[in-house]
Formats: sequence, structure tokens, C-alpha cells
Amino acid sequence: MNESRLYEDDELLMLSGLQHYSFCSRQWALIHIEQQWEENIKTYEGQLLHKRADNPGLTEKRGSLLISRAMPLVSRRLGLSGKSDVVEFHAADESTPHGYCTRLAGRRGMWVPFPVEYKRGKPKPDDWDEVQLCAQAICLEEMLDVTIAEGALFYGEKERRVEVLFTESLRSRVLAYLSGMREWFERGETPAARYRSGCKSCSLIDICLPRMKTSSVDHYFNTYMEWETDD
Ligand code: SF4
Repeated sequence: MNESRLYEDDELLMLSGLQHYSFCSRQWALIHIEQQWEENIKTYEGQLLHKRADNPGLTEKRGSLLISRAMPLVSRRLGLSGKSDVVEFHAADESTPHGYCTRLAGRRGMWVPFPVEYKRGKPKPDDWDEVQLCAQAICLEEMLDVTIAEGALFYGEKERRVEVLFTESLRSRVLAYLSGMREWFERGETPAARYRSGCKSCSLIDICLPRMKTSSVDHYFNTYMEWETDD
């Protein structure tokens, strides 16, 4: 990834791919480079949950809160595009630090953006969901010329909202994943399969065949090592 340039439309990677890539780089490449996709019950449930949040163009006002759904997002600097589930805009007051609020067309005053992403299931031990939310915040920062300190993940299974701070460390992880995606994308290659516990819940397991690929690679490697030691 080259942060000193601005990416054109046909070079933009999908923001949703960050979650795929942080789960498994091969899964991301099968979906986003090879355009393969398999539905399983988890992806179906996830789509239902997103449909509830996804009502394009709708902006609700609830007191000092504006709620915008399915807002298109883009970062030309990162080469990333997608859409948010929900962006809340909270009315700023005198305690809001300079640079953390923005003007909105057709609205009076200053507003603090706060992205919210809907997820099926419950909070995960890894950082996949936080990475995707943070990437949304980085897109919003570039679009609105503002700094966003936090957002939230809403988990369908627990009906629970978890706040996420966009720390330097989380932002660095977004950049690291993106850099890996950009390299594979520009080479047009798909990483090799490696079977692991996460494969059991992967919607692409029947396309990927990780056990077969892993064992054939291992078989080839072991055979090669035997040849080497025979000499
Ligand atoms: S089956 Fe496993 S290795 Fe293959 S794409 Fe899914 S998670 Fe990755």
C-alpha cells in the first residue's frame, strides 16, 4: 500500500473484505479476487441482521442525535470503499475537543460522528470486527475531515452494544491487513490453504478443501524431504 498516492475507483478494495482477510487471507482472496461465494447459515443470519440496519439514505433525528443508515464510505488514501450500517451524529457541545466534530449539510451546529456496525453472534476473541469498524471510521475521517475517537459494535445474539476505541494500535492493524490485501490483489494470487480450527465454520470450506490442499502440500513437502535425505 502506498499512502502517498490517491487510489482511483477501479483500484478500491471492499471494506467488508477486511473482516474476511483478518479471519483468513485465503478466504478473502477466494471471495474478492476469485469472486467465489458460498452461503451458509452464519452468512445468511448475518445478512438478515444487516437488512434491519440497512435502509439506504434514511436519516432519523432523535433529540440531539442524528442516525444515518447505509452511508457510502470511501478512503482514497487507503484505497478502500464500502458502506456503514449506521453512523450516529451526536450534537457537539463546548466540551467537544476541536477537530472531533464536523458540520453537516442542512443541519445547524457541529456534530460528532460515531459509526455502529451490526454483527450476528457474540463478541469474538479476535479483532476482526474492531478492525472493520475502525476502517469505517478512517473512511469517515477522510470524508468529513474530522478525528473519530470511538464507535460501537452491536451483537445480535446478545442484543448488546460494545464500545470500541480507535487506538493507534488498532489503526496500525487496519493498515497492516490492508497492506497484505493490496499485495495479493496486485499480484492476482490466492494464498495456499492451511487447515485450522476456524475452517469448520468457514462458508467456503467446500470450495477451498483445506484438508486436501494441506495434506497434498505436506505430502509433497515430506516426499521432497525424503528425496533430499536419500541423496
Ligand atoms: S476453509 Fe479454512 S483455509 Fe479455506 S478459506 Fe476457509 S478458513 Fe481459509
